[in-house]
Amino acid sequence: MFEQKIFSRYPHPDSESLPSLSSTLFHDQKKKWGMLAEGVSGLESVLSKIINCGTFAVRLQFNPKRIISTGANVDPVSIKERKCFLCLDHLPQEQQGILYQEKFIVLCNPMPIFREHFTISHVEHIPQSIEENIINFLDLAKDFAASHAIFYNGPKCGASAPDHMHFQASPKNCIPVENEAVIVERRRLYKKLGDVSILLLIHTGRSILILESANKQDIEFAFLRLTGAMRKAMKTNEEPMLNALCSFTDGMWRIIVFPREKHRPDVYFKNGDEKILISPAAVDIGGLIITPIEKDFKTVDATAVVKIFEEVSVNADILNQILTSL
Ligand SMILES: [Zn+2]
Repeated sequence: MFEQKIFSRYPHPDSESLPSLSSTLFHDQKKKWGMLAEGVSGLESVLSKIINCGTFAVRLQFNPKRIISTGANVDPVSIKERKCFLCLDHLPQEQQGILYQEKFIVLCNPMPIFREHFTISHVEHIPQSIEENIINFLDLAKDFAASHAIFYNGPKCGASAPDHMHFQASPKNCIPVENEAVIVERRRLYKKLGDVSILLLIHTGRSILILESANKQDIEFAFLRLTGAMRKAMKTNEEPMLNALCSFTDGMWRIIVFPREKHRPDVYFKNGDEKILISPAAVDIGGLIITPIEKDFKTVDATAVVKIFEEVSVNADILNQILTSL
């Protein structure tokens, strides 16, 4: 069973790169697996528009196929009752992936937001945890450096399988915050921790922290120190609510962290016309907001975006507490 699911392996016997292997996987899967072909062709008809929110802008994408993810029940009872769709035994028959470091499997996402959108799930059914998997997060970003960034959704803020450890990969610079993170006027250096720069990304309508370093051990340490500070400020013993995006460029890792106050905004739970089906995870809070509903695509404006971001991000007071205990 396990072997049938493996399309190729990384590290590869012929030293083929991960971007090259994943691109080959994508094209092969698109030929053999109808659901993926349909999902990818559906992307050609998604609509998108820029919403200017004053000091920042976001892109809104109308993507009807994302209803399953946006509308997913992720409460513990629903999760327990459903068959885990990331477990190897439950993958569709046609689906195959790249076995990564013997621990993860790189799979094509059949309901993509981007053309080559991968889900990278652990080969075992273990809970979603960034702290337990921070090294894998950094390694994946480096091995995918030429083509993709890696993102993570916390178990309570966007992961559609909170019980099964997984990352996702998006083509580099397709999530708007990746481009904003390099704008000099937006970057405020807060402090250095070893070889790591800790920065705030300002005028973005939400709380965003950035860690940058060429030193893997130092950035691992700084990230764990950050999650410790967040746990304290956010008064929880569990993983603090967060989304994170990691990329590796010119020899340096950049982790963009979004500390979260809540997963879904109040408007998500309203009825009738007041309801807005936006369920922010890393991509959305990163500035590419997905809605599967045409009405929402037409009516969501800057005021709604500003309010949603403000509601789901930690406020300035919590952000300050996080920074002071770093
Ligand atoms: Zn599972």
